[in-house]
Amino acid sequence: MTPSDSGPERRERLKTLREAALGRPVLAHHIADGFNGRWSRRQWVQASLFATIAALVTAIVPGFGDLQAGSTPLARHSMSLPLPPLALRASKPTAEHEWHVVRVQSGQTLGAVFQQMSIPASTMHRILEQPGAKTTLTRLGTGAELAFDVSGGVLRRFRYDRDPAHRVEVALHGDRIVQQVIERPTELRSVVSSGEIDSSLYAAARKAGLPASAIATMTDEIFKYDIDFSGAKKGDRFSVVYDQIWREGELVDSGDVRAATFTTGGKTYSGFRFEHAGKVGYYTAEGKPLKKSFIRMPIPYARVTSGFTTARKHPILGRTRAHQGVDYGAGSGTPIMAAGDARVQFVGWKGGYGRTVILDHGRGHTTLYAHMSRFAKYTVGQRVAQGSVIGYVGSTGLATGPHLHYEFRVNGVHRNPLNVTMPPPELLQGAALVAFRAQSAPALARIEEVEGLLRNNARIASRQPATSGATSGTAKKV
Ligand SMILES: [Zn+2]
Repeated sequence: MTPSDSGPERRERLKTLREAALGRPVLAHHIADGFNGRWSRRQWVQASLFATIAALVTAIVPGFGDLQAGSTPLARHSMSLPLPPLALRASKPTAEHEWHVVRVQSGQTLGAVFQQMSIPASTMHRILEQPGAKTTLTRLGTGAELAFDVSGGVLRRFRYDRDPAHRVEVALHGDRIVQQVIERPTELRSVVSSGEIDSSLYAAARKAGLPASAIATMTDEIFKYDIDFSGAKKGDRFSVVYDQIWREGELVDSGDVRAATFTTGGKTYSGFRFEHAGKVGYYTAEGKPLKKSFIRMPIPYARVTSGFTTARKHPILGRTRAHQGVDYGAGSGTPIMAAGDARVQFVGWKGGYGRTVILDHGRGHTTLYAHMSRFAKYTVGQRVAQGSVIGYVGSTGLATGPHLHYEFRVNGVHRNPLNVTMPPPELLQGAALVAFRAQSAPALARIEEVEGLLRNNARIASRQPATSGATSGTAKKV
């Protein structure tokens, strides 16, 4: 994942996706990464199906469990047993009922919750002084659970979750305060969701129970270079293998997308997650990176207003000279993205170019972005990931109106970015390729198995039109 895939931008995109799927606006604070914390009865039914299938996956493909090692910070807490642990709860049967659980409301502060519980602010401040407490408690999200054990108007114990895997319990005995961090075992389960598009991709994905974050990974990351999803049509199929994070029998979040396939126009695209040389990426079944070295346009969906020419009359200088780049018309302030992973070579004013950024992509490739209204946060020497915003469209320098002037150079020679042959991505080789094959094969087998089941079901259903329950959906959870 690139840095641009986290934070407010991604959150906003997830919100848009979710709205598209639901057909109604969604409040921003309800959008956790793929899981909103509230379940419909239908989702509970789906979850129990997931759980059964996850157990089957482990049984059928023993190697599949190995995929889970080291992929998320939570992986080290994963357990090999598919059943939720009951021992923790059973060991303290009497303590549970004394807890009063409060869910943080939208816009509610910690102080407000304590006030609501009639607990003095001084007590709250004592709790906040505990190691690590401030970091979590001053940034509580809507729906976060806080538990109070109050006896005779005095707070005896206070409990909150630092993260899905750590619960903090604070005991107050008069002047003494004792904080205990309890590890809560979480478990990763890989599940497969498959579907076929009927009306829209988002409707089909939603029907298949795919979390918004997994849809976004498929469209904006895995296949963004190869598939134009705005052209997805009825009959196109997808399968996604992704992780779910479970704790004590409860689904708490969704994790990484391990593999995905998308079939459109009779062609099946596939992508498999693999960590290589410290970088996570998606690869074809043959071990070829899906990520291209360069994206074609530094501004998505922008219009080319002036192409690359060797000689033309300059609109301001009046002289005939080459236009050694491509102009993209866009409104002032439109974000400009780094065309590829790079190191920043230049940020500043450059004569007629105005505010300009030059990126060095290695292997003799550089890109230049001119006429910016302002720069993003990057400074010379810094590493920039492909797709990161490096500045904003403007009309500084010699420009008749707001646009991006974009240049692409190979070993110092200007090339037309619209048709230059981009350097091919480096294939996985040797031990990395062997490791990749071992990881991707079980995921692919699972997808093939699930898609086979779907086809069989569809065949059976078409033979027995009376059993309407079995034919109601094109997308089935398996
Ligand atoms: Zn230009």
